[in-house]
Amino acid sequence: MADTTVMDKIVSLCKRRGFIFQSSEIYGGLGSVWDYGPLGVELKKNVKDRWWRAMVHARDDIEGLDAAILMHPRVWEASGHVAGFTDPLVDCKTCKARFRADKIQDAQCPQKPSKRPGEHTTCELTEPRMFNLMFKTFMGPVEESAAVVYLRPETAQGIYVNYLNVLQGSRQKVPFGIAQIGKAFRNEITPGNFIFRTREFEQMEMQFFVKPGTDTEWFEHWREWRMAWHHALGLNPAKLRWHQHGPGELAHYAKAAYDIEYEFPFGWNEIEGIHNRTDFDLQRHQTFSGKKLDYFDQPNNERFVPFVVETSAGADRVTLTTLVDAYREEQVEGETRVVLGFHPAVAPIKVGVFPLVKKDGMPEYATRLYHELKQHVNSFYDDSGAVGRRYRRMDEAGTPFCVTVDGQTLQDGTVTVRHRDTMTQDRVSADQLKGWVKERTEG
Ligand code: ATP
Repeated sequence: MADTTVMDKIVSLCKRRGFIFQSSEIYGGLGSVWDYGPLGVELKKNVKDRWWRAMVHARDDIEGLDAAILMHPRVWEASGHVAGFTDPLVDCKTCKARFRADKIQDAQCPQKPSKRPGEHTTCELTEPRMFNLMFKTFMGPVEESAAVVYLRPETAQGIYVNYLNVLQGSRQKVPFGIAQIGKAFRNEITPGNFIFRTREFEQMEMQFFVKPGTDTEWFEHWREWRMAWHHALGLNPAKLRWHQHGPGELAHYAKAAYDIEYEFPFGWNEIEGIHNRTDFDLQRHQTFSGKKLDYFDQPNNERFVPFVVETSAGADRVTLTTLVDAYREEQVEGETRVVLGFHPAVAPIKVGVFPLVKKDGMPEYATRLYHELKQHVNSFYDDSGAVGRRYRRMDEAGTPFCVTVDGQTLQDGTVTVRHRDTMTQDRVSADQLKGWVKERTEG
């Protein structure tokens, strides 16, 4: 099976089963902008909830924040984004296509046969020119330069400008962190690969404020913890690796940076970055705002501007990773079974509930059970078609368990539980089912 075929199959499964749709499809779609349908929104929410639990609720030293998308324009001057958040853009005068000069080896010229840009004799590429990736808009009714605001290209700056507010309102002391999940926008030159690179996306970012001199040690801790989080998400460890940024690759603010990469069907690509941002951002905000942003360390009676270790993951990229990692096709009794073998904690539907047949009180029993389960875990009721077909539909949606109410249920109050991955079946008492499912799908 060619790798592009796998991506095509995942994209089409996502549309068919209601995970992800192209934005504004009835108008022909808006390029590289995607909407999450009923199953997709659950999947992505489960990924985000899991991140929030691990990064905020499970720790004593991290607080949550939800800063606004629109910020004072000076923020982006201070952060360096107005001057330097650019990618090198190359145009082809022949076919009018646009490419990122630094990613040209991965790009394709639209002319046939497939070649890289510049490789056809008719290609006429311009010299690269720098293109700012920030989306601009205007605040208020007048479209003038004084009213320009930007859609944030990262959530991090909302954390930096609020770090003293959070410190004052909580009992935290350095070292401590602030975590945020929110939308970010980048006018990417070459978005693509489904939801991998889009112009509107969600980030799950955490900024950890530490005493200068302890930053390298914290950086190593955070590298270890973040990789462990991806492993605990059930991703295949053989498909995860580190990429260290070399000197030419490091962002202007970073002392050290590592990406966590996943092996997608379209190659190894970043899903999360761990950066030692030093005191660059806080120093810059101090200079640009004229407000002191140093920290007073009472026990040691000293003041310093903290260093920051950042962990920055894309919620959409991690969601895509869970889809790609979970997708498999198996031959079962001469038929192809398509399965999304999600970790049960991220599976959009936790349990399917079926009556074996539509008679003898089975639908009534199953409906009752479904409504009861639904109060605790996301459940799905299905009474149409053969049970085998209903199992296959749940396999494709990644539902870890299916429960069937059958003749025996009416006699002894037990139901058949069928496991998605092994296709084996158990009998479980219906009145213990809620606890049974919760235990296996939480955490
Ligand atoms: P890339 O090199 O892929 O453009 P980046 O190094 O610019 O990514 P960061 O600025 O470190 O990315 O952003 C942190 C995370 O945000 C990335 O690891 C990724 O998961 C996510 N992200 C960044 N840009 C996009 C995008 N255009 N679409 C979806 N997710 C994105």
